[in-house]
Amino acid sequence: MKHFPVFLAVEGRRIVLSGGGDAALAKLRLLLKTEAHLTVFAPSPAPEITGWAAEGRLTLHRRAMEPGDALCAVLFYAADEDEYEDARTSAIARADGALTNIVDNLADSQFITPAIVDRDPVTVAIGTEGAAPVLARAIKADLEARLPATLGPLARIGKAFRRMAETLPVGRARRDFWADYYFTAGPRAMDHGGQEAAQTMLDGLLRRHHSAAERPGHVAFVGAGPGDPELLTLKARKALDTADVVIHDRLVTPEILELARREATLIDAGKEGFGPSMTQDDVNRLITEHATQGAQVVRLKGGDPTVFGRLDEEIDAVDAAGIGWHIVPGITAASASVAAIGQSLTQRRRNASVRFLTGHDMAGFADHDWSALARPGEVAAIYMGKKSARFIQGRLIMHGADRTTPVTVVENASRPDQRILGTTLDRLPQDLNEAAVTGPALTFYGLAPRATQVELSALEQELA
Ligand code: SAH
Repeated sequence: MKHFPVFLAVEGRRIVLSGGGDAALAKLRLLLKTEAHLTVFAPSPAPEITGWAAEGRLTLHRRAMEPGDALCAVLFYAADEDEYEDARTSAIARADGALTNIVDNLADSQFITPAIVDRDPVTVAIGTEGAAPVLARAIKADLEARLPATLGPLARIGKAFRRMAETLPVGRARRDFWADYYFTAGPRAMDHGGQEAAQTMLDGLLRRHHSAAERPGHVAFVGAGPGDPELLTLKARKALDTADVVIHDRLVTPEILELARREATLIDAGKEGFGPSMTQDDVNRLITEHATQGAQVVRLKGGDPTVFGRLDEEIDAVDAAGIGWHIVPGITAASASVAAIGQSLTQRRRNASVRFLTGHDMAGFADHDWSALARPGEVAAIYMGKKSARFIQGRLIMHGADRTTPVTVVENASRPDQRILGTTLDRLPQDLNEAAVTGPALTFYGLAPRATQVELSALEQELA
């Protein structure tokens, strides 16, 4: 981050701008929304500027800037659209102690102005450090459409009511009240009766929240999907938005953890923390302890929580503690991986069933019905199959599987570092070894990447 975003207090403070043309007008339209004292230096100002000066919205000096003109200013904009004049005025302003910006000159500016979505007092600032103004504009348009126009008035009314809301206990009770106001009761009242309705509804809403019984703790077992945040379900997003505590495993990516409510406590249950590594009992205890204290706990598991996630053990512990729970499904690694190779998990006339296997379980390498799997056309998605590759290969060949059966390993499915390794049963262990697969990897037995997909990825590599 080369530029650190902050919101500057400008109420009653000086902002100085030099320039009277289009660039000056564009900046002034923005600056006029603030409560700063604006001073403009322009020998020949545009009519809009003289108009604003006549209305008393800014102070206009019809001359070029001179040393001392930017004294006590917090910000200065050089907007003469003339390289030499902009350099001259910004040097003056800098000497006068103001932070300076030269319009359309990132390198010589001390600060930059972001793209702004204005729902005052809610303001969203978007910056791309000058890299992609198009992107900033697209994000702004997206947000403009998404944030209702009533958000500003709602926030203003809400702000005035903060004191009253402080009669609710800090934490969840207060949060629930505000969530109800901003997302349900507030917009509804606004739609029906405008600002007045929103204002009068607040007392009743507060009473209702005062009398509401304390929400008991709860555990949501949530699937985080294979890693790409866009593969989260809307329900998972919602659960993360409202969580008090998020207990996640090693497979959950930082991009997804970023989406958790900012105040939520994040606990990495996959980390080597408690001694050598957290045991299942430690994790169970952690979940129940937080929920017993009334927390909304999200137990966030990679992929789908019901697939090789020791979910039942955690549910049993939560049940035993008398805590409510529910499951939010996620996209399992097999689904993301098969999408990556452009194939279908089942196919008419090839395989009417597909097995999800684990390469190893608590006791070591896992045993399966190898002779059934060895039949032609069978397809299996093998989880945790890296270390057990040689074992699986041996068992399948021993039970008569064709050595040329296609095998595909998808590493880091759905993530930016995704890799696809197409091989065959007889070459699986050595190819896996040579490819030095270090990320989570799913092995498909009986599936090859679709031919067009192979060409595509070769092309991508060439282009890269
Ligand atoms: N509940 C998870 C699986 C947990 S077991 C799910 O539904 O996906 C852990 C194994 O899942 C890993 O060893 C790997 O085989 C597989 N896996 C998880 N995420 C993956 C990813 N992004 N790419 C490839 N395989 C993945």
